[in-house]
Amino acid sequence: MKRYDSHYANGAWMPSTGTAVLPVTDPATDEVIAEVVSGSASDVDRAVAAAREAFPAWSATSAEERAAYLGAIAQGLVDRTEEIAITISREMGSPMWFSRMVQAGLPANSFAKAAEIVSTFAFESERHGARIVREPYGVVGAIAPWNYPLHQIALKVAYAIAAGNTVVVKPSETTPLNAIALAEIIDAAGLPPGVFNLVFGTGPEVGEAIAGHPGIDLVSFTGSTRAGRRVGELASATVKRVALELGGKSPNVVLDDADLTLAVPAALQAAWINSGQTCSALTRLIVPRSKLAEVETIAVEAAAAFTVGAPQEETTVLGPLSSRAQQERVLGFVRKGIDEGARVVLGGETEPDDTPGAYVRPTIFSDVTREMTIHREEIFGPVLAIEPYDTEEEAVELANDTIYGLAGGVWAATPERAREVARRIRAGQVSINEAEFNADAPFGGYKQSGVGREAGEFGLEEFLEIKAIIG
Ligand code: NDP
Repeated sequence: MKRYDSHYANGAWMPSTGTAVLPVTDPATDEVIAEVVSGSASDVDRAVAAAREAFPAWSATSAEERAAYLGAIAQGLVDRTEEIAITISREMGSPMWFSRMVQAGLPANSFAKAAEIVSTFAFESERHGARIVREPYGVVGAIAPWNYPLHQIALKVAYAIAAGNTVVVKPSETTPLNAIALAEIIDAAGLPPGVFNLVFGTGPEVGEAIAGHPGIDLVSFTGSTRAGRRVGELASATVKRVALELGGKSPNVVLDDADLTLAVPAALQAAWINSGQTCSALTRLIVPRSKLAEVETIAVEAAAAFTVGAPQEETTVLGPLSSRAQQERVLGFVRKGIDEGARVVLGGETEPDDTPGAYVRPTIFSDVTREMTIHREEIFGPVLAIEPYDTEEEAVELANDTIYGLAGGVWAATPERAREVARRIRAGQVSINEAEFNADAPFGGYKQSGVGREAGEFGLEEFLEIKAIIG
């Protein structure tokens, strides 16, 4: 089995000095497929020193130069699509078609898009009688999760370096291998040493060293609200800028004139994509009480299309969850749903079966009410909660009855009506009717779903300071 014992800093692979060996497990088979030697706080120090040294020259490059590097990285990702897709399927279980299109496809898009945006971005303008100059922060620390492992890294790295920052990245300890491929691509693209640095390790060791590091100017974190809070706490000691993309419990509101035959199958897709391991998954389907039975019938019929299976099988729509820990967590939520009185319409499995792999079959609960845990907490698995309402006012109120505010959906007979309700949902991104996923629209949370926005021009601005030169 392959053991990776180095991290990437100052343009070279260097032996990691941590003591832990982190196994990478294929969640479809429970097989350990690789090992990664953890980095340590002193590896973070070295990476930060390299990033600081590289910053003056990198931030002085022209936007065109940076765009050329970003374009080369995008091409490198495209060229290695199949290999990256296989790697991510093995690390976290997503089906191959999904890995190709989303897990490998989105990162290439982010680098290409960042190249395009930075080429025309107005770094200077006149406002309020002052010259407004947008400048990079300096060194960006990026901490990424395992659910869209390379996409989350790319959203941070592409836009941070496009803006002229240098970066130190920590991937999730469960999905480090895709980040190795990215480092190789960046190396081959000839990015100056120190602009991109990568340190492996756990959140408590390497993640916290990044969050609290005095040499890091901005930390961009994606993951659970619990860990995000800790990152914010540590970052506050050096008053560094913090961007957090955290959890969600996002509503999907079906209005009384919506076409249920379109809305309900699409709602399953919006809830269960990536086996439900999506921060913006629309996990609460809010429907007129008078249509509850019809919604349930259509949902159960449509759920038959969500074949659960091995990631390599062409017929697989939902692979295993990313780990046995995640499987146990999700099954625990299903148990809670049943115990607290939600009605099982589909699935309802509460124990793993004795086949290998972290598989969980989809579950639909109905008559879910506000007091229930499955109404409040992020499950991160293929579990949909149907919540009935009596009036449109109540539907909106129910949609907003959450500490989160990452995403939402609205279905209505006309886009105008859907848009009107979308405006009332307190969330960073709301899609209406059959809108397709838009990878370049600003993405981020209201309330406890986070701070800041990623992707597109807003994703670039996230990594830019504002300076006013007066006179
Ligand atoms: P975490 O939030 O723990 O992991 C996300 C990243 O943060 C990982 O790189 C992790 O490191 C790191 N991290 C963990 N603790 C700290 C810390 N104290 N300081 C700095 N970095 C830290 O998510 P989990 O893997 O524990 O998943 C649990 C739940 O979180 C999921 O079920 C889901 O509900 C939610 N989640 C949400 C995501 C989102 O996209 N918003 C993504 C992932 C999870 P390490 O390598 O040690 O894991």
